[in-house]
Amino acid sequence: MAVKIHPSVDGGIKRGKEGFAGGTLTCKCSSNPVEVKLSGQTAHNHACGCTKCWKPAGAAFSVVAVIGKDKVQVTKGADKLKIVDPSATIQRYACTGCGVHMYGRIENKGHPFYGLDFVHTELSKDEGWSEPQFAAFVSSIIEAGAAKPSDMGAVRARLKELGLEPYDCLSPALMDAIATHLAKASGKLAA
Ligand SMILES: [Zn+2]
Ligand SMILES: [Zn+2]
Repeated sequence: MAVKIHPSVDGGIKRGKEGFAGGTLTCKCSSNPVEVKLSGQTAHNHACGCTKCWKPAGAAFSVVAVIGKDKVQVTKGADKLKIVDPSATIQRYACTGCGVHMYGRIENKGHPFYGLDFVHTELSKDEGWSEPQFAAFVSSIIEAGAAKPSDMGAVRARLKELGLEPYDCLSPALMDAIATHLAKASGKLAA
């Protein structure tokens, strides 16, 4: 049996559309769903194996992207949203009805990713969102209880087959961006 990663990638990766201008995320409540409007294309979309991201039932990975927080607007059901863990770096706003995370926001202005919100574009019917490009925190699916250590060879092989290079932290480009931000903040690198 094929290794399952996430329903939106198990059948192959669907490429994003050039010039895609955004769309609406809708939670899974059958009545009064929360809606979040994203006024633009997302970036750095990836499969994530961490234990904090929202994922659909049965999925080993989440699929999560970023977008500028100025492009994120709750248009319906704002009163149903609650922060999952106020002490976490990323404040994930979940629907209290269905549990879906509608967006995650970083409030620490010194954080390398400050200004970017984390979103799951599978919650949108609009087509053209940027496609997942790599897999992050792959080893964490063991911690999440979604895989046994002995499954990991098959999981990484499947990710590579899908074109999602597996990493056990973030991708080199994002790890370099974090380190650059921190080096500039500490004065080790000229700003
Ligand atoms: Zn909901
Ligand atoms: Zn994650």
